[in-house]
Amino acid sequence: MANELAKLSILDAAKKLAAKEISSVDLTRACMENIDARNERLNAYLEVFDDAEDQAQAADDRRAKGEKHALLGIPLAMKDNILIEGRRVSAASKMLENYVATYDATAVTKLKSAGAVFLGRTNLDEFAMGGSTENSAFGVTRNPVDETRVAGGSSGGSVAAVAADMALGAFGSDTGGSVREPSAFCGTVGFKPTYGAVSRSGLIAMGSSLDQIGPIAKNVADAELLFNTTRGLDPLDSTTTPEGLYPKRKQMKKIGVPRHLFTEGIDKDLLKNFDAALADLVAQGYELVDIKLPSAPLALAIYYIVMPAEVSTNLARLDGVRYGLSKTGENLFDDYAKTRREGFGPETRRRIMLGTYVLSSGYYDAYYGKATLARETLSREIAEALERVDVIATPTTPSPSFKIGEKSDPLSMYLADIFTVTANLTGNPAISLPMGTVVRDGVSLPVGIQFTAAHGDEAGLFTVGKLLESSQKK
Ligand code: GLN
Repeated sequence: MANELAKLSILDAAKKLAAKEISSVDLTRACMENIDARNERLNAYLEVFDDAEDQAQAADDRRAKGEKHALLGIPLAMKDNILIEGRRVSAASKMLENYVATYDATAVTKLKSAGAVFLGRTNLDEFAMGGSTENSAFGVTRNPVDETRVAGGSSGGSVAAVAADMALGAFGSDTGGSVREPSAFCGTVGFKPTYGAVSRSGLIAMGSSLDQIGPIAKNVADAELLFNTTRGLDPLDSTTTPEGLYPKRKQMKKIGVPRHLFTEGIDKDLLKNFDAALADLVAQGYELVDIKLPSAPLALAIYYIVMPAEVSTNLARLDGVRYGLSKTGENLFDDYAKTRREGFGPETRRRIMLGTYVLSSGYYDAYYGKATLARETLSREIAEALERVDVIATPTTPSPSFKIGEKSDPLSMYLADIFTVTANLTGNPAISLPMGTVVRDGVSLPVGIQFTAAHGDEAGLFTVGKLLESSQKK
């Protein structure tokens, strides 16, 4: 029987903490009980911190002295590619299995100052490359709703932790959908901020022009709180932008729907839920506008050129000399080759090779150069569409969660990212929230709806998200 206290949303728990009805130690113990009951099977946490209760006690002491923050004493889970000083951070790779972080990610610094409790580090696809957490060097994360299915990825561990009440909220990273896709599969809210809103300092880089740290929560208001606590200009990341950079947008109560993207590959039952969710919003005064995004069908192709190109350069630093695993070969070159062959899993190696190829002098213009141009066109189309509507709506994924082992062909796995990669390529903020369930093999599986807004308009996303949530509760 799951500990009920850990079912609370962050904001409800914060109210109870403020009213002294519960303590952070109580909340942390409740999460720990659920971790003890389910983590061995789900494999959401790679490590549960043995000082979590001490952190909770410290938060209770801070509160007793008069400190107030909604996150003070709230137990959270962190994806294992976000640095917490003095703790191991593996990126779910053998390469960094025993690597200890020497500094805090900026997001972590902000969470520490708010008083959040870190329960542990959660599983992911190696270096965040994947859509199912099957690429982890430390085993798959199971979906808490149906343990024969994947939790999604790459932030599968963080999402499973929240979905199974093993944390009140969590953080992941989103390079092509890694916060939103698993959230859709497990029934949580997943949010990718505008590029530059949250500092990437202390996030192990995958694709630097795409990566953002984003929250995973039980509802939109919690995700908003986690985002607001971690956002902001950071001298340690020159791509961060100050709050208030983008002018506030007036809401038009219009939702753009690119129906031309909903081709045969999209699950029919899922599309019914999508239409029902939109109908809820229409009942609340929204107008649906049919929009065309001519370059959106190219988004996957663009992403799977730009991303590996950046991966191949970012992972070049893992050479056995500077960080992590180090193997000795016949000569220096052999040291590198041996370390990288043994340290990286197959998907990581595939992407490094692809990336090196598309950047090589003979092919640069044909691939990377073209992808960069197409990326610009896509950005322009999204920006133009968002001049006429507040948000663009699509399903988050083309199908509900799939069986573990089902997508052994990498290309079929990449297709799961069809709706999520666009926001990373264009830098727009996007959110996934639950839109009911579809039944597969007798099990009701969660599915998600995604909204994308103009740069800096996270407020617009939270507004629509909260409205949809409230109509679903009725
Ligand atoms: N599934 C996508 C990929 O495999 C997204 C990964 C991510 O967002 N980190 O690249």
